[in-house]
Amino acid sequence: MTPRHIHIIGAGLAGLSSALQLSLMGHKVTVYEAAPYAGGRCRSYFDKGLGCRIDNGNHLVLSGNVAVQDYLELSGAAHTFHHQTEPTFPFLDLESNERWTIRMNNGLMPWWILDPKRRVPQTRPKEYMSALNFMFRDEDETVAACMDTKSPLFKRFWEPMAIAALNTEIENASACLLANLFAQSFGGGGAACQPMIPKQGLSESFVTPCLETIRQHGGEIKFGHRLRTFDVTNEGQVTSLDFTNAHINLAPTDWVILAVPPWVAQELIPNLLTPTEFRGITNVHYRIEVPQNPAGFTGLIGGVAEWIFTRPDVVSVTISASDRYDEENQEAWAVAVWDDLAKLYDLDPQKVPPYRVVREKRATFAATPAQNKMRPAAYIGWKNLALAGDWTATSLPSTIEGAIRSGVKAAQVVLRWSEA
Ligand SMILES: Cc1cc2nc3c(=O)[nH]c(=O)nc-3n(C[C@H](O)[C@H](O)[C@H](O)COP(=O)(O)OP(=O)(O)OC[C@H]3O[C@@H](n4cnc5c(N)ncnc54)[C@H](O)[C@@H]3O)c2cc1C
Repeated sequence: MTPRHIHIIGAGLAGLSSALQLSLMGHKVTVYEAAPYAGGRCRSYFDKGLGCRIDNGNHLVLSGNVAVQDYLELSGAAHTFHHQTEPTFPFLDLESNERWTIRMNNGLMPWWILDPKRRVPQTRPKEYMSALNFMFRDEDETVAACMDTKSPLFKRFWEPMAIAALNTEIENASACLLANLFAQSFGGGGAACQPMIPKQGLSESFVTPCLETIRQHGGEIKFGHRLRTFDVTNEGQVTSLDFTNAHINLAPTDWVILAVPPWVAQELIPNLLTPTEFRGITNVHYRIEVPQNPAGFTGLIGGVAEWIFTRPDVVSVTISASDRYDEENQEAWAVAVWDDLAKLYDLDPQKVPPYRVVREKRATFAATPAQNKMRPAAYIGWKNLALAGDWTATSLPSTIEGAIRSGVKAAQVVLRWSEA
């Protein structure tokens, strides 16, 4: 194998995943990141107002995310997670005030649905088989079109899971994308659905250990390097990279992996087809201590707040597809969401603790059938360029698993074409 120099643009999880693979294989890797930090949409930082570290948004990964598991193992970060040994998903229905915990068994046969104490109240075992409906859908169908959206099981289980996983309202969300995601989680039985929560924060699990491993293997990370444009021959050979602060000429054997968001990729490669619609995620972080539960999170039904994640000093709330609410005012978000939390923890709804609202307007591409068809493959026919990013054709929605897989795929493209 001839070692190559691979220039990776973007230090989100897709770019880091490519850099990890290629540096471990002995290639020379340079990662260029526009921001002064790595991690992109999945990172932690110190929030001055709250006086503590927070994640840009709660992220949930499950044990069935095999690319995530590989990435963590290769970067030496597997031990940085709380790993539930038996998957539990606690819920509160804000309207009826009912609380329950879904307790899946680890085996492939889902006998937990036979036990009323382990399944959703007011549901029957045979209703769970409706999940199989997802598996045989064509690529144009939406989630709402293939489920009984009025059933308690849908309202209390499939809907919160689907909105969180696809970050798109169920009337428009792609059934195929959800099926692909469920195949690697519920399809693998409880053992593939164990939630994995970072013990400290997203950066401490997904970013810092990976950066260290890349550097230990000779890789370089250059922050504050925003790619503006590049030179490319008629044959599709990228010959130089033009950053805001540097110009780099490439050797004929060098490769480029473009791991930037889709709107940046489209600016750089104007005729590239990419997703063009996005959905926001709003997270509200409150500086308060609340009772912890063993799962580390709770699902809320019937409120504004959807998933609540707790740490010793902060409780963080996720609202997916938050464009459904035309709310821009931070205080209005904080007050509305606190109302739901006050019910969950039996606290005073009037006493809103110190908070931070983080609204990521383009958190994910819209997981609709039409947008899914606009995702390009990693290899677009150029001689020395591959694409990576959760928006490329991974067959999954915008997820950490998808981003990491895309990085592995781009690395494979480099290796395959370099040897050809
Ligand atoms: C609030 C929120 C919650 C989420 N929750 C979950 C969850 O629970 N589970 C899950 O699996 N996924 C979740 N996701 C999705 C997950 O975070 C993303 O799928 C993943 O982080 C995308 O990684 P990426 O590398 O593809 O893109 P990005 O993270 O966007 O990385 C792209 C990088 O390129 C850099 N860049 C841009 N332009 C340039 C340029 N011109 N030159 C150089 N660098 C450039 C950017 O600064 C960025 O660092 C969530 C996302 C958000 C925002």
